[in-house]
Amino acid sequence: MQRTERTRIRNHPERAVPEQASEILAQGMVAHVGFVEDGIPYVIPLSYHYDKGVPESIYLHGSIRSRAMRVLASGAPVCVTVTLTDGLVYSRKAMNHSMNYRSVVLFGKGREVTDEDEKFGLFDSMVQRYFPGRMVGDDYNTPPSADLGVTALVEVAIEEWNGKRRLGPPTGPDDDDPDALGSAGVVELREV
Ligand SMILES: Cc1cc2nc3c(=O)[nH]c(=O)nc-3n(C[C@H](O)[C@H](O)[C@H](O)COP(=O)(O)OP(=O)(O)OC[C@H]3O[C@@H](n4cnc5c(N)ncnc54)[C@H](O)[C@@H]3O)c2cc1C
Repeated sequence: MQRTERTRIRNHPERAVPEQASEILAQGMVAHVGFVEDGIPYVIPLSYHYDKGVPESIYLHGSIRSRAMRVLASGAPVCVTVTLTDGLVYSRKAMNHSMNYRSVVLFGKGREVTDEDEKFGLFDSMVQRYFPGRMVGDDYNTPPSADLGVTALVEVAIEEWNGKRRLGPPTGPDDDDPDALGSAGVVELREV
């Protein structure tokens, strides 16, 4: 995946993990989807589909009446952020409180998927991503055409991305000194 000035990580460049971007998208649950309509920026939280086997796209869906779907389906530029919060970092120095995280920021453009079979295939894959092993026909019914018709599906072809990661303990000047005032450590939120 290419990177340009738009996806260069300037603050803490040593935390750039472009090679982990695919895995972060695979693990993420919520995409924060940014776009501009009539000069007004919106950032909308949405579920998404991402398949590591097809790393150049993510898929977003919603009501055909949704603003986000309407704007994205028009091919407007979109910026999507996915974040995994791994830990809360506390320090003896106020400024060194932080978070351990992994995140991806990607840029692309939307394209509406209208073919009914393609739509259903992607929705089925999305159900499998969030609920591994959940089978259409056994665990839920095949959706009727009417339901597919009122649900918009947009593919965002990824033009470029970068990943960023912070891990490890706090880095305040006294955080390794047990005799110094206060406390320091990490509240782990997930196993990394
Ligand atoms: C974790 C999560 C996952 C979601 N997944 C999906 C999904 O996969 N598909 C889907 O269609 N919807 C999903 N939603 C709901 C989604 O965030 C939007 O509310 C919905 O899609 C309508 O978007 P819209 O573009 O039409 O917003 P509009 O109705 O045009 O928004 C109008 C105003 O409300 C604000 N707004 C919109 N959404 C929210 C929100 N969630 N919280 C607070 N303010 C909001 C907007 O910023 C704007 O100011 C999800 C919400 C969450 C929190």
